[in-house]
Amino acid sequence: METIVYFSRNNKKSPFEVSIKLNGEIAYIDCNCELGLERKICRHKINAIRADRQKSHSSTSDHAIARLKILFGTTSTLRQHLEEQWQQLREFASANPNDEAAISQKRKALGEAFSNGFSNETSFIDREAHGFNESGEIKNMSQSIRDTLVEACDNGEVIRIVYHGGSQPGTVRDISIITVCGLDVRARDLAVGTTKNFNLAKIELADPSTTAPQYNPNHPPDVELTGTIREVFDEMAGVLKSLGWHVEISDDAISLCRYFKNGRPRKASDIKLCYSEYVTDAFVDADGIFNEEKRRSARPYRLTSRSDASAKTFKKISSAVSGFLLQAHAQAPAKLTSTQNGIL
Ligand SMILES: [Zn+2]
Repeated sequence: METIVYFSRNNKKSPFEVSIKLNGEIAYIDCNCELGLERKICRHKINAIRADRQKSHSSTSDHAIARLKILFGTTSTLRQHLEEQWQQLREFASANPNDEAAISQKRKALGEAFSNGFSNETSFIDREAHGFNESGEIKNMSQSIRDTLVEACDNGEVIRIVYHGGSQPGTVRDISIITVCGLDVRARDLAVGTTKNFNLAKIELADPSTTAPQYNPNHPPDVELTGTIREVFDEMAGVLKSLGWHVEISDDAISLCRYFKNGRPRKASDIKLCYSEYVTDAFVDADGIFNEEKRRSARPYRLTSRSDASAKTFKKISSAVSGFLLQAHAQAPAKLTSTQNGIL
């Protein structure tokens, strides 16, 4: 059985120790704080599951963080269960602040689900997205891309890639490699003529038959859009539907999901953009008191996608919309003709 240890910061006192034991896909998570000993959910376990480096004690190894990121990426079943239940617990606690018995019971139910062993399915996406294999080494796939890039660098060859990062993620670019160092790739982007840094984990070698859109160096600076998500997306719903998506729009969120073969939309969204003006940092103290800190978010738009293990956040709705549309296009269940394509 593999054991990963995450140490959660505890002011100047010795850190709390969260242990994650793995038996195949079953993860057992415990913490040595007061709540943890009662097998309740605590902020230390949450920090560990989120692989939060900032909230960890310096004695937590980089390897542990890398492993946790792979195991509990945002599309893993354990992480989804945590985020969903934790949000419900927070909502319940703020609506019923005096119902300590029920809060405590919910905290225990969630904690026990992890302590008793939780069957965690990690998606291929989670492991892929970080460019590491399960031992935290550069994974074979990235290694072979790396080899190709190093070779192209030596030969002065121009190489075509799909880059899943930058201002237009998912677009095709022609690059000329300058250096490859670890996961950092420095290359000249031929369309712009400037040198940029690329992350190896986000580079895909472009297949000649790729349908990914071309990187557009003259991409107009994002048009200043205003309004709510509903106002901005209402008129785009038709185009999104023609891409094969089931579209759900509310004032502050839009989500796209695929359909089952029987024509019913799937419950889990593939791409989702939501707006929340405030962020609430909620935590349970070591002595069991529920705390919340509310602050205005600097980047209130949050884009999550099945193809990307980590969420993207945006300051402006215009950039959020561009990011969303690129994903909607790249992952579209139906392919569009080039004329329709122009609309996006
Ligand atoms: Zn704890």
